Amino acid sequence: MRFFLPLALALSLFLSGCGQRTAAPPPQMSPPAVEPAPLPEPAPLPEPEPVPEPVPPPDPPPSSADFVPAADFVPGVRVDLKYAGEDNFTGQVIYDFTEAYLRYGTARKLAAAQEALAAEGYSLLIWDAFRPTEAQFRLWEACPDPVYVANPERGFSSHSRGNTVDVTLVLEDGSPVEMPTGFDDFSPLADRDYSDVPETAAANARLLESTMAEQGFKPYAGEWWHFSDEDIYPVEADFVPGK
Ligand SMILES: [Zn+2]
Repeated sequence: MRFFLPLALALSLFLSGCGQRTAAPPPQMSPPAVEPAPLPEPAPLPEPEPVPEPVPPPDPPPSSADFVPAADFVPGVRVDLKYAGEDNFTGQVIYDFTEAYLRYGTARKLAAAQEALAAEGYSLLIWDAFRPTEAQFRLWEACPDPVYVANPERGFSSHSRGNTVDVTLVLEDGSPVEMPTGFDDFSPLADRDYSDVPETAAANARLLESTMAEQGFKPYAGEWWHFSDEDIYPVEADFVPGK
């Protein structure tokens, strides 16, 4: 027994040492080196089709009653708002914006008239379009005479409906053509009886009138430049041009 104990101890140390060695991960055995078979040349890939840029959906068109700047929807139209400056019968600035606003439905009709006139070498020139109700009060203050200005206490001009436009003819390059009178001429020469004006002016006024009427505008008998869309909209008190 005295002889056997150290032997057993040594044996157990040996075995435990063996155990530690066998616990270590065995060395990775590399597989036998085999020359890989050459891969066949890959067939050239076809050029990828270019991915088209996604087209943004178009903005929905305005509805007929929406207010729009006429110049955005009437290609080629010219605008010179007389009440945005002092070149009008009051000699005063009546409103502070220079873009002509109309109902979208009215602007579409004006675009059709402009297109028809452009085919004959003419263009429309807008003198007045939407007139805010405050502007009607300002006009009345400047000229409180119902012969010339609608009294806003009794109702507003159809210009405040956004369906009415004061418009004349010019050549496509903007040069003037002869018309019966200037804007806001309150003489009898301004009415639609063209027998009292020169023939060229009468012919131009008739061309403007017939073109506008064909596109759904009602000509006002007292002023050759004043046309209202046959589609009527309510007087607009809230829309602020340019805001
Ligand atoms: Zn008018």
